[in-house]
Amino acid sequence: MTLKTREDYRAALAALRPNIFKFDRPVADVTADPLTRRSVESHCRAYDGAHDPALRDLFTCRSPLSGDVVHRWNSLSFSPEALVANARLKRELYRQTGTCTGAACVGWNGINTLWAVTHEVDQSLGTGYQGRLRDWALQAESRGWMVAGALTDAKGDRSRPPSQQPAHYLRVVGETAEGIVVRGYKVMIAGVAACHEILVLPGAALREADHDHAVAFALPRDADGLTVVEARRPSDGRELEDHPDVPATGITQAFLIFNDVVVPRERVFLCREHRFTANLIRYFTANYRACIGACVAGQGDVMAGAAVLMARANGLSSRVFRDKLVEMAVNNETTYALGIGAITLGERHPSGVWLADSLTAHVNKVQVSRLPYETKRLCQEIGGGIAETGCLPSAADLASPVYGHALREALTAAVPGEVRARAARLVEWLTIGAGVPGCMHGGGSPDGARLIVRALTPFDGYANLASALAGIDSPVPEPEEG
Ligand SMILES: Cc1cc2nc3c(=O)[nH]c(=O)nc-3n(C[C@H](O)[C@H](O)[C@H](O)COP(=O)(O)OP(=O)(O)OC[C@H]3O[C@@H](n4cnc5c(N)ncnc54)[C@H](O)[C@@H]3O)c2cc1C
Repeated sequence: MTLKTREDYRAALAALRPNIFKFDRPVADVTADPLTRRSVESHCRAYDGAHDPALRDLFTCRSPLSGDVVHRWNSLSFSPEALVANARLKRELYRQTGTCTGAACVGWNGINTLWAVTHEVDQSLGTGYQGRLRDWALQAESRGWMVAGALTDAKGDRSRPPSQQPAHYLRVVGETAEGIVVRGYKVMIAGVAACHEILVLPGAALREADHDHAVAFALPRDADGLTVVEARRPSDGRELEDHPDVPATGITQAFLIFNDVVVPRERVFLCREHRFTANLIRYFTANYRACIGACVAGQGDVMAGAAVLMARANGLSSRVFRDKLVEMAVNNETTYALGIGAITLGERHPSGVWLADSLTAHVNKVQVSRLPYETKRLCQEIGGGIAETGCLPSAADLASPVYGHALREALTAAVPGEVRARAARLVEWLTIGAGVPGCMHGGGSPDGARLIVRALTPFDGYANLASALAGIDSPVPEPEEG
């Protein structure tokens, strides 16, 4: 049977080689270590969804490749409905976890992007990349993998291309009888501690001089030569201990160090074909930035809920904050609906994959870098100072046999102090970033999205329309530069 349970998933993760480090120590078992187990729990909830009668239609689908019922996050999206389901699944997962499940997200988008790009490379150069991708994607489906997606390079000096600073971009450094050898870094990769496999793609459109960096492949998370260093999170102090200050869910972000890793040929999906990387970035960002509106909407749903809880815990009817709550809902539905709009306005790539409309998707990315921050602000405003960072004593202090009773009394309002403290800590966790990463740079910077909006918006054509409406029949040219 293709569908896996949380138990299957945890067993498969526990069997991986321990190549993850944090605080300069190895993580022996990601499912048990306090540093990683919350991220694993978040992803477990995706498997739970596949077996929940209320959610299974969303969390599973029939694979266009095999015809089997599979976990949706491994599937190819061959229709607008399938891509809308991707967005809906992301919103639901945020509702279930309050945070990002990166290994059920970025790799999925990578598979779909590569399906389109390998089609183009094969058509143009007679290569056989899509067959290899198909074989690997079928394994991902049948084994029910979680797949992290790694695009972001270290980049070094942002004003210089990879060829002028090759160490800062992952690159091909050699070939063996078995495959290719890669060296370098990918950074800030979500959900690596919770994944079975990592799908690696170029993070930029590349020129001929950069062709060694034009490489895409899949590797097991515990591949020889790969070291994973997990980033420190703002809530780490609390996550190390087992007390109720943070939810059972969480996220990890990793730096990946590839030290001459050999990638078997059958797992290589692009190698030095730099010409195709511009489309790769175009397809990846269109679909990713369409769907990310649903992620932040789910995050906002939980924030609206946490704000209602805080109002009530403080003894106030949530109706007092009706306007602010409505504002939060408007923000959530705006990014969600913009994403769905981008998908609806999209088109089918000749490979079969559905691609969202770039202009609308990038407009969504710009909104995603703004509206959730306003939602967070409103959540904190409703919650009061106790829900902002740094004002609430720890759970350990609330439980102190010496002064805990006094703290709990001091915190008591319409509900017992411990209950109010839990709601307040959730607001802090949701809004300060310990549970939910920022929405600013995930999926690329907003200025990058603005560049695309500028490129795809026909301002000259609009000026002609305006001229016609104004009854101007002589040219109004752009002034000479300089
Ligand atoms: C929560 C989170 C999750 C993430 N998950 C993943 C993941 O799973 N996989 C993955 O591959 N990546 C992931 N990332 C990384 C993300 O894709 C990058 O952060 C993003 O692409 C921006 O790159 P950067 O951080 O290097 O920013 P920078 O490139 O340093 O950009 C910083 C600022 O400088 C501007 N800038 C950069 N270069 C130029 C230039 N040449 N000219 C003018 N302005 C410039 C940018 O627009 C931006 O405003 C994640 C990031 C976050 C925050």
